[in-house]
This record gives sequence, C-alpha cells and structure tokens, in this order.
Amino acid sequence: MDNLLQIKFIGSLLRSTWCWRLLRLTCLVLLVAMVAWGWHHHDIGGVDARDPLMYTSLTNHLFWVWWIMGIVFIALLFGRAWCTVCPLGWLNGIASRFGLRRDIPPWLRNFIPVSLVLILLQLSVYFLAIHRFPDYTAVLLALCLLLAIAAGLLFRERAFCTLFCPAGAVFGLYARIAPFQLRVKDRAVCAGCDSHRCIAEPVEWQRYQLGSTVLHRRNRLDGCPVGLVPAEIADSADCTLCLTCLQNCDKENVKVGFRSWLADLKTGGLRLSETFFLLVLVGLLTANFSKVYVDLRELIFWLPQQSAQLLGWQEPGFYLLAVIWIAILLPLVIFLPGYVILRLGEMRQTTLDSEPGPPIGDLPSSTGFWSRMGRLVLSSIPMILAAHVVLALVKLNAKAGYLPYAIGDPSGVTPYLAFNIMQTVTPPGVLLPLDTLKWVIAALLVAGLALSIFASRAVARGLDGGSRTFVPAAVVSAFILFSLYFATVIEWLFIR
Ligand code: SF4
Ligand code: SF4
Repeated sequence: MDNLLQIKFIGSLLRSTWCWRLLRLTCLVLLVAMVAWGWHHHDIGGVDARDPLMYTSLTNHLFWVWWIMGIVFIALLFGRAWCTVCPLGWLNGIASRFGLRRDIPPWLRNFIPVSLVLILLQLSVYFLAIHRFPDYTAVLLALCLLLAIAAGLLFRERAFCTLFCPAGAVFGLYARIAPFQLRVKDRAVCAGCDSHRCIAEPVEWQRYQLGSTVLHRRNRLDGCPVGLVPAEIADSADCTLCLTCLQNCDKENVKVGFRSWLADLKTGGLRLSETFFLLVLVGLLTANFSKVYVDLRELIFWLPQQSAQLLGWQEPGFYLLAVIWIAILLPLVIFLPGYVILRLGEMRQTTLDSEPGPPIGDLPSSTGFWSRMGRLVLSSIPMILAAHVVLALVKLNAKAGYLPYAIGDPSGVTPYLAFNIMQTVTPPGVLLPLDTLKWVIAALLVAGLALSIFASRAVARGLDGGSRTFVPAAVVSAFILFSLYFATVIEWLFIR
C-alpha cells in the first residue's frame, strides 16, 4: 500500500488532472455559496436569543462543525490531503500565474505570520464570537477568498498557504506523523532525468485534430506550487499533496501511499517559528479543552483574570491578556518541566586538578532554547493530535445531526423556529451515546500518550549524539498534556 498508483482505479484517479480540478471547482462553488447563504443572517428578528443561527445556518454548520472538525480526521490519516482539494490554495495558485510573480521575501518565509493569524482568529472568537453568527462567518470566508486572490496576484508561489493559512500549518505538523506520504520511487531516476517536468513548469504542445483540421495549443504545465523538489522531500510538512509532480512526471517515478506512523520524526526538529506556532496551537487547544472543566478553566485563566483586575481592565482587556497568556505563555509553562529535565541531563561534571578558571562555554546554538523546545513539542505532536481529534469527535457527535435541517433551509431560520419556538421538531441528539463516547475518548487520549512516548524515542534517535534525558523530558511533557486532557474528560464524562 506504499504506492496507491499500483491500484488501477486509484492510479487513474490520482493521475487525472480534470478529476481534481472538478473537485476543487466544486469546493470553490460551495465556498462561494456559503458566503452567500450566511451574508445577511445575523439573528432572527423578533426572537430574543443571542445566537439563534449558530448551528442551524448551513454556512456556520458546514464551516465550524464539518470543516473545522472534519479535517482533523483527514489530517490524522492523510496529513495534508485536504490541501489536494482546497479551493483557496487552488485559487491562490491560479491567481499567481497572472500576477506580478514576486518572490515571498525571506523574512516572511516562516510561521510567524500564520501564528499571528491564528491568534487573531482566537481574538475574533473572544471579541466578536464570529463562530456564532453566519454573517461573520461569511465575511471571514469572503476575506479568505480575497486574500487568496490578492496574495496570488502578488507572489509567485502559494503565498496564501504559506503566510495566512493556519489550517495548512496545522496539517503540516500532523503530516509528520500521519501514515501517508508522497515521495519519489527511485532517486537515481530523478538524478538521471533531464526534463525535470515535475517541478520546472514545463511547456508542452497539445494537438487537436478533427478530419483534416489540425489545431495546436501551447500548454504550460504547473510546477510545484510550494517550490519543492520531489526527490529531495525529507518530511511531509510542506508538500501540499497537490499531485502536480505526480501528474507531470513522465517517468512515473512519483508514488503516493501509506507508510508507518511517526515516520518523519527522525528527520530533524521543527524550525524555530514552527515551534512557536505549535506552542500557540497547544495553548489554544488546551484552553478549548478546559471549557467543560470549570476548575481547570478557572486555574488556566486565573492569571489573566487577576492581572485584568489589578489593571482595572474590563472584559476586552481581560480577553486581550487571556489570549496572550493562553497562546504564548501557558504552553511554555506546560513544557517548562520537560525543558528543565532536558537541561539538567546536559549538565557536565568535570573534576579539576586546580582552581576553577573561566566558565566552560555553552553548548552550540543548535542546542539553544528554541531548538530544545522544538524537539520536545515535536515528540508531543501525537498527544496534541489526539486532543484535537477528541475535540472534533465531541463536536461532530453533538452537532452533526443538524445537517439535514440546515440543508433544508440554509438560512437556519426555519429549523431554529421549529426546534425552539414552535417546538414541532425535536432538536437532533448525539450520534454516539455519551456512555460509549467517553470510552472512545479515553482510548484516544491513552493512544496519544503511548504514541508520544514512541515519538520521543524516534526524535531522540535522530539527535546528534543524543541526550541522556531527552526521552524522560519528552515523556514528562506529553504526560502533563495528557493529565490536563484526561482530567477534563474524567470530570466531564465519567463523574457526571
Ligand atoms: S495550506 Fe490552507 S489554503 Fe493552502 S491548500 Fe492547504 S488548506 Fe488550502
Ligand atoms: S511536491 Fe508534488 S505534490 Fe507536493 S506540493 Fe510539490 S508538486 Fe505538489
């Protein structure tokens, strides 16, 4: 199964450019329709409820329930597979063919812009509750569409994906451990290849003939939209699985298929800014998880609450402090014990014959704070992904049943009135009973912890010279995350 192209039907499907174009076009039409369905709907006139359309509006429902949550399952099994059909990335790529084709400046080629977008999204959830109102969701989607086009018109590559898409950055992290990859079959074939059709935006001619009439059309094939060289791909973080190289390669030397879990963890740590992004993600996930465990939530938000009170700041000030705390400082606190263990393991003991001289220099900069932190959070990715899957499962289990009603009336007004005002229809219940769901969730979290322990061993093997305490440090970090999530699940689902 490491090369799905060997299966005839799947092989033809993956090689077919038109099939994927059609799928992307369908997603784009759906996205535009979601903007239209949600645009004018904020609430229901005459109904005294704050956010009546939160789950019944098709725009809100598709985006916040099915897309935001559903893609976590895709990422779990297939890494960046959503990017294959993503209409935003596609639109961005098309626009980039006609625009100025500038290079993204090197100082922007990192995860800081996308981390800021993620923080900004969390701020807009706190300040505007954008996830509760269809018109706000529609504006968010319309902005994404415009930004994808604008970034494409300005830059050469998929700048929207690189600079603005937190989903792509999250998929990139999960793709490192997902059991799916695109690689070349034989690097020697690439080394001997003159055309480099897979990456070089090759030009070819199409010949159309009808009777004696012959037409020729110059056809420029796409190159890799993120500037990768397939033969040099070391991990799956950046490949958007757009399949362009697979479709362009005339030597059929590109394969796509399954592999073992955690496969990329031996190939090196995270970049500094990627570590920062993952820490932000951990903070936001943890804060989201704690929503259902009041004591933990109060503990997590105690510091920003006290600081806001001390400063005399009202709710907006508290939210600002809360986001800074949960996105930047809280994750550092979570990983601090692991970091201290790691540092203690690096302590060097030397017996001196004479009085001590000047202090021995520190370790090289490749073992600096962010580098160590990067390796610690890298081995915690399975635990983080497990928590993400749990959040997605809970949401889909509770709200997926609204879909038929939202399709029936995309504005969401009729289902809301039927459920809550006229009470002619019973609101949809959960898909899985909570007594079953709680065991599934517990199993997922335990699996996340177990995989993180394996991951720490895999990361340790990839370290230059290794570190005596890396595995214990990484296990402690994963265990702290596990304890926070598991305690929440026990409190919420087992002690009810
Ligand atoms: S990175 Fe984001 S915008 Fe780009 S293809 Fe993936 S999901 Fe779409
Ligand atoms: S390596 Fe291939 S599949 Fe991956 S982004 Fe580049 S062209 Fe697309």
